[in-house]
Amino acid sequence: SVRVRYAPSPTGLQHIGGLRTALFNYFFARSQGGTFILRIEDTDRERYDERALQDLFETFEWLGITWDEGPGKGGPYGPYFQSERKELYQEHARLLVEEGHAYRCFCTPERLEQLRKERGKGRATGYDRHCRNLPPDEVERLLAEGRPHVIRFKVPVEGSTVFEDYLLGRVEYPNADVNPDPVLLKSDGFPTYHLANVVDDHLMRITHILRAQEWIPSTPLHVLLYRAFGWEHPVYCHLPMVLGPDGQKLSKRHGATSVQEFRRMGYLPEAVVNYVSLLGWAYDDSRELFTREELERVFTLEKLNKSPAVFDYKKLEWFNGVYIRAKTDEELFALLLPVAEETGLLPSPPTDEEKEKLRLAVPIVKERLKVLRDVKDLLWFLFHEVPDYEPALLVPKKLDASATMRILAALKEELAGYWTRTDEENEQRMRALAERMGIKLGQLLMPLRVAVTGSTVSPPLLESIRLLGAEETLQRIDRALE
Ligand code: GLU
Repeated sequence: SVRVRYAPSPTGLQHIGGLRTALFNYFFARSQGGTFILRIEDTDRERYDERALQDLFETFEWLGITWDEGPGKGGPYGPYFQSERKELYQEHARLLVEEGHAYRCFCTPERLEQLRKERGKGRATGYDRHCRNLPPDEVERLLAEGRPHVIRFKVPVEGSTVFEDYLLGRVEYPNADVNPDPVLLKSDGFPTYHLANVVDDHLMRITHILRAQEWIPSTPLHVLLYRAFGWEHPVYCHLPMVLGPDGQKLSKRHGATSVQEFRRMGYLPEAVVNYVSLLGWAYDDSRELFTREELERVFTLEKLNKSPAVFDYKKLEWFNGVYIRAKTDEELFALLLPVAEETGLLPSPPTDEEKEKLRLAVPIVKERLKVLRDVKDLLWFLFHEVPDYEPALLVPKKLDASATMRILAALKEELAGYWTRTDEENEQRMRALAERMGIKLGQLLMPLRVAVTGSTVSPPLLESIRLLGAEETLQRIDRALE
C-alpha cells in the first residue's frame, strides 16, 4: 500500500511551497488508505534551527494535518529524526565502499578550496576525483594515521541515467552532468542529504516520492545510489513549480510566503489548505471549494498539472472571505477576539463590556473582512476616539462646507430618538430627511460617516451608530460642527 513522506529540513519556517508538498503527500496517503510519514531531515547541524521544528508542528496542528508515523507518534521504521539514525547511514556508506561504489577521500578543506578557485564556474566544477583511485595501501596508511576523511560516491563517468517521472515522463541525464562524486558521509560522521534521504526512503518503504521540482537535479544521483545498493527506487513525482504573480519563482519579493505570516494576518486554516491544494492540482474545470476532509477523499495524482502554478494573493483573499462568511457569528467572534487584542483594537484583557460590543459588531464586519486583521481598522471607531481627519472629508460630492454644516445640524436633531427606534424606522426617517433637504441619501450620510468613523469607508453606518451609542455619536457630530 501507499507510503509517502514529508521530509523537511528544519532550517527555516514552513512556506507555501513546502506546505503544498506536505499537503499533496498527506492527501495522497489519505485518499489511498495509505500511510503518511513525517521525517525530520536534521543532519545539517549548522543550519539546524529549533524554532523551525516548532513552527512545523504548530503549522501542521493549525491546519489539521496529522501523520501516521513520525515524531511523537513513533512507528515501525523509526526513529524519524535523521540525527538519531547516524549509525545506519555509516553502515550503508561502508557497505558502498566495500562494494566499490564509494571511496574514502582525504582531501583537506584547503585543497578543495584551492580547487574551487582554480576551476571557477562552468561545467567542470566540483571535485576532481583526486582520491577516487588511491591505491588500497595508501588508503590503509592514511586511515591508520587517523586522517580525517569523507566518503564519496563513485558517479559513473560515462553513460547517462534515466528515470521515469510520474508527471514529467522520461527524464535522462548524462552522468557527466551529475555532481562528480558527491560526499555521502562527512568527516564528522554525519550523512549528507543524498545518502540519508535515499537510505531512509528505502528503509521506511516509501512507495512514492512527491516533492518539488527543484529536486530533479538530485534525482539522477539518487537513482544511481539505489542501483549501487541494489534497491528499487520509489515512484518519482516532481510537483509543478509555484510562481509569483510575475512568473518568477515564488519568494519573499512577492509578499508573505511563510505559513506563519498568513496565519498572523488572519487567514483561516480552511482557506489556506483549500487554496494551496489548488496549486498544481484541480478536481475539474469548475469546482474550487473543498474542505480538508473532502480533499482527503478526492485527491488523486491523475489530476496533477504539469504546468507551473501561480500563487495569486487576491485569490487566496477571496477564499478567505468565503470561509469567513461561512462561520457563524459566534464562531467568528471567537476568532476575532484574540486578533482584536493582538492588534490593540481591544486592551488585553478586554472588559466584559468591550467583549460584548465586539460580539454585537460581528454581523456588521462579517461581509467586509478579507482577513481577520481587517477588524482593527473596520471597528477602530467603536473602541477608540476617531483620529483627526481633514474637515474637507466631511463634505459630500457636489455640496459645499456650509451645506455640510446644515446636514450635520439636521442629523443631530434627527438622531435624538434614534436609539429607541427600530432600524427600519430610522432608515425611513433618514430617507425622508434627505428628501426634505433635497439631497441624496448618500450625501446625507457621508458627513455622518466621517464624523462618526473618521473615514469615508466604514461598516454599515446605521448599525455602526447603534453600537456606538447616543452619547458618543452626538459628541462626534458636535466635534464635526466646530
Ligand atoms: N529535506 C529535503 C527538503 O528539505 C527533502 C527533499 C525530498 O523530499 O527528497 O525538502
